[in-house]
Amino acid sequence: MKKEFAQSPELYAYAGILAKTFIQRKDLYARQLEDGRYCCIRKPLEEKHLIAHLNGDLTLGTYVLGEDNKARFAVIDADDDLQLARLAEISMSLEKAGIPSYLEASRRGGHMWIFFDRSIPGQVARAFGKQILASSGLGKIELFPKQDKLGEGPGSLIRLPFGIHQKDGQRYGFVTPGGKPIAKTFADQIYLLSNPRTVDKAALDEFISQYKAIVPKPALVKSEAVGETLSLQIKRSVTVLDFVGQYVELSPAGRGLCPFHDDHHQSFSVNAEKNYWHCFAGCGGGSIIDFWMKWQDTDFRQAVKELAGLLLNKGK
Ligand SMILES: [Zn+2]
Repeated sequence: MKKEFAQSPELYAYAGILAKTFIQRKDLYARQLEDGRYCCIRKPLEEKHLIAHLNGDLTLGTYVLGEDNKARFAVIDADDDLQLARLAEISMSLEKAGIPSYLEASRRGGHMWIFFDRSIPGQVARAFGKQILASSGLGKIELFPKQDKLGEGPGSLIRLPFGIHQKDGQRYGFVTPGGKPIAKTFADQIYLLSNPRTVDKAALDEFISQYKAIVPKPALVKSEAVGETLSLQIKRSVTVLDFVGQYVELSPAGRGLCPFHDDHHQSFSVNAEKNYWHCFAGCGGGSIIDFWMKWQDTDFRQAVKELAGLLLNKGK
């Protein structure tokens, strides 16, 4: 098994696929030690490292957040076979909801990978993962990225697929919810993952958003909506408290940890009466559009477009 890829003329192609699908940053990488832990190597990741990974000469870990605090995938880490079986069930129900996912076996349990159609802010990737976990009944389980934003170090990492686990010398592949390999050989599995099915942005936002917008009745809108801007319609469709409350855990008084800085003091608050949010540590505040711009790291135009799709069923 260890020599599956040895001397394969296509090793360079496989390495390229690994880089494209699973690597978010190339300025540094992580290497697994014999005891299963990882150490960070602060040197650029090169093709030769990926080839050594496939050949089993070293085992790499992949950092989930890029330097821009964005992620292209989220991973849920099942610790044991029971959790993995539950993940398989969840994978099937997500599939029905139009969310594709990939299951990877591991030494114990396994990983569920979900790929996005673009890089998204860490907090959005995490909100998505938390939403999956909230209804899963899985209890304590690890979600990657583990951080909304990078702190001092390079953040959380996960074992790069298709290598040899340093602790047991095994190579693990991807499996169907029924537990069968998704393709006969590891090489074929890598090809399958060269263009993984992804979750698109609109489906992602819709999945995270639990709030069903109350769209004004048409009769009411007719007279008032003449000349009413899309941004005004968005702001009228849902209160700041209801909307922001989906993304930030708020106390009954409307206080919470700010998602926009490393907050330990509940600096974030929503004023329900005056219908705005504010961060006392200087992250700004305002309407749900202001919130969305920061949450998604996007501009006003794009934020309005996305919120219209999400709240007014427009712009799709
Ligand atoms: Zn803040």
